[in-house]
Amino acid sequence: MNILIASSEVVPFAKTGGLADVAGALPKAIYKLGGNKVAVILPNYRMIDAKKFGLELVKENIKIKFGTKESEARIFQTKIDGDIPVYFIDNPAYFDRDGLYQISGQDYPDNAERFAFFSAATLEACKILGFKADIIHCNDWQTALIPVFLKSLYRENGFFKNTATIFTVHNIGYQGNFPFEKLSFIQFPEEFYTYRGFEFYGNMNLLKGGLIFSEIINTVSRKYSEEIQTQEYGCGLEGVLKERSKDLYGILNGIDYEEWSPAKDKFIKYNFTKDNLKGKEKCKTELQKEFDLTPDNKAPVIGLITRIVAQKGLDLVKEVFESLMQMKMQFVLLGTGEPDLEKFFKNASEKYPGKAGIKIGFDNALAHRIEAGSDMFLMPSRYEPCGLNQIYSLKYGTVPIVRATGGLDDTIVDYEDDSEKGNGFKFAEACAKPMFQRIKTALKYYNSREWKKIVQKGMKADFSWGASAKRYLELYQLAVNKKRET
Ligand code: ADP
Repeated sequence: MNILIASSEVVPFAKTGGLADVAGALPKAIYKLGGNKVAVILPNYRMIDAKKFGLELVKENIKIKFGTKESEARIFQTKIDGDIPVYFIDNPAYFDRDGLYQISGQDYPDNAERFAFFSAATLEACKILGFKADIIHCNDWQTALIPVFLKSLYRENGFFKNTATIFTVHNIGYQGNFPFEKLSFIQFPEEFYTYRGFEFYGNMNLLKGGLIFSEIINTVSRKYSEEIQTQEYGCGLEGVLKERSKDLYGILNGIDYEEWSPAKDKFIKYNFTKDNLKGKEKCKTELQKEFDLTPDNKAPVIGLITRIVAQKGLDLVKEVFESLMQMKMQFVLLGTGEPDLEKFFKNASEKYPGKAGIKIGFDNALAHRIEAGSDMFLMPSRYEPCGLNQIYSLKYGTVPIVRATGGLDDTIVDYEDDSEKGNGFKFAEACAKPMFQRIKTALKYYNSREWKKIVQKGMKADFSWGASAKRYLELYQLAVNKKRET
């Protein structure tokens, strides 16, 4: 198959969140499986270091006509992993800006137009480069117009006769909702402007367009693919998703074990493996020093690395914080987020010196040290499409305590439910009380002989990209078959 992965951000070129990690790792994993041609395409933002990544100009003066607008693009190219082409759509008026989507916390007012341009330019680039894609893999609202264009402006275009699309939802909370005027220069077929198209409460919802017009849809965990079909999690799009439930799949994101393995992690002072946990004990002592906690090897350390927001359930932690501090445990938090919550945790650490340590900020190296030095990792998320930290935690022998939602539910098995498969502790309701009960249970097991078994169970697990890439290939094939049938 010829596969093109279209994404508004890709590691290592440009990143604001998890989408970039997926778009950077998946092409490599697919390429490794062999037998397919895979390429990646993204906008050429100001933040992309052309020199460092060896970008070369491959085409210029390309006319991009989208609706009544016409603009010009250039295509730059580099390669990753030796043989995977990455294409950059260049148009300084749209992409030579400080941020990817925002400036000073405010979305750019022409975001709809910028990504409509990118979507149209992606299709034009396929033609100009002679890349006859069997699959265009689109991600989130920024590339959602690609399947829409293929079913409208490009419908009669023979070049795309056999091009199928798959659309991945990374977080349904971000939908690309715009007033119709923002894209009034594009004349879509009339029915596209109704609820059968991308109309959404009087606005134009690009994500909805992607969900309706792509051959296959998926999201980043099985559980989340079910949850988003309900009113509680669907953010208004549950009806659309339910209607397409036969074409909706969940594939867990993989983990880069080159970056996240205690045996070779460069950010930690002492490496360790599941068969020799001495290094982990020393990492814990280091972590206690770093956070000014009382040096005590017997006190279980609960770690958190997170955006400090309600989605991540930090308000639940706040609710039981006083009770937690009465237990034999220590608390370590790294994150940034809502000012009120940040302030609460800062004050709390001052109130409980030696027992609670907080660092406000974003610090990747410290995140590694927390994973290595903690005994448990807490993720009480209200929703979590996939979640990465619980999977890193397993590898580092740091037992996850999670809420049973999205990817957290798919990856963590409660030890009391299944002592063979159990790799952590899990609670159902997004409430402080059940969370606190589960923490108490975990603390109880910490002092038992079973603890080591739970730790080693997690460290054995393999969530690398290989298995997920295979599943993506299966979905690509399904999409291709579906396209042929129509
Ligand atoms: P989300 O994408 O919703 O924030 P994920 O768990 O999917 O949550 O991914 C978050 C990633 O960002 C993880 O790798 C986590 O370690 C990292 N991270 C989050 N906050 C911080 C921080 N303050 N410092 C360092 N890394 C962080």
